[in-house]
Amino acid sequence: MPEILLLPGDGIGQEIVPEAVKALEAAGKRFNTVFRFKNALIGGAAYDDCGNPLPEETLRLCNESDAILMGAIGGPKWEHLPVHLRPEMGALLPLRKKLGLYANIRPAVLFPGLIDASPLKPEVVTGLDLMVVRELTGGLYFGTKKREFVDGEEQALDTLVYKTGEIVRIGRLAFQMAQKRRKKLTSVDKANVLASGRLWREVMIKLGQEYPDVELEHIYVDNCSMQLVRRPAQFDVIVTENTFGDILTDEASVLTGSIGMLASASIGGKVALYEPSHGSAPDIAGQQKANPLATILSAALMLRFSFNMEDGARAIEDAVRQVLSDGYRTPDLMQSGGNQVTTAKMGDLVAEYILRG
Ligand code: NAD
Repeated sequence: MPEILLLPGDGIGQEIVPEAVKALEAAGKRFNTVFRFKNALIGGAAYDDCGNPLPEETLRLCNESDAILMGAIGGPKWEHLPVHLRPEMGALLPLRKKLGLYANIRPAVLFPGLIDASPLKPEVVTGLDLMVVRELTGGLYFGTKKREFVDGEEQALDTLVYKTGEIVRIGRLAFQMAQKRRKKLTSVDKANVLASGRLWREVMIKLGQEYPDVELEHIYVDNCSMQLVRRPAQFDVIVTENTFGDILTDEASVLTGSIGMLASASIGGKVALYEPSHGSAPDIAGQQKANPLATILSAALMLRFSFNMEDGARAIEDAVRQVLSDGYRTPDLMQSGGNQVTTAKMGDLVAEYILRG
């Protein structure tokens, strides 16, 4: 029986994770799989409980599970804490590192029902269906950091390091993803300015020789950010390093209509972590206004990548498409003529549509 560890976390995490559980249970029922769920604390909720945003017990349960579904962590309540105790630095980054999750996969798909919710004109955004593969455990976020006084002035240093092996493993994964899609891979770097960018590009070019069926192109990150709003449908799979990936995925997310639509999977280790791309949204927490679809679509990725249940993943994605086509909207997606629903109602509708098939 597949065991899923639930880490709802803080803010809207508490509201959106139960809705994804409804979708998983419905998909399980339709395709004869029973999931077992366990819960654990992470982030601010864990800090309040035991003074540690990533308790040993949570880590143990993560390692014992078959897949992890997380909500979001953080919020103003914990922002004053020393950096190592803050939810993101003290829990999320070390969790990814400890589980060996070196790749973050974020699909950005425009569901036809949301074409008017995108900030781009319909003729520009039509056909958007891309996937960003972001390196997750290297680069600036994990390099040596320092603050020091030099000549009577304080300065801060962050180090951007990439080893060949780190680029090869993320590159391979991206080529393999492209092989299963439209066979086009865009590698994003800043090779004109950064030494790490030049190594990144050299490694990708070399790897490309092993995947002759995939069309490989290189693009500077500034141009990529422009192309994403100019002609987003040109992209199939995008592969990039940690910091650029962080920024580009947020940009890609709004093209889909709302950050509440963007799912993510962090893979590469024994146990994968699935979570929406957004944060804990303290401004709307506890009000049943949060869009649970990014978390529900992350659960679909879990069925696809961790449990090899392609039918279940498609059933969830089809249900989301249908619910949106039928006009149901959480407030972030609301347009005139839409039928506004709460977080829980959206979850109920998706589960109902999954079961209906
Ligand atoms: P955020 O993603 O939480 O919110 C940005 C905006 O998007 C807000 O207006 C919010 O209401 C809206 N929003 C986000 N998710 C939504 C959803 N599902 N439905 C409807 N609207 C949604 O980003 P932020 O405000 O910069 O950060 C808030 C907290 O979340 C901070 O403490 C930050 O550190 C943390 N954070 C956590 C993660 C994570 O857990 N992976 C990621 C990013 C930020």
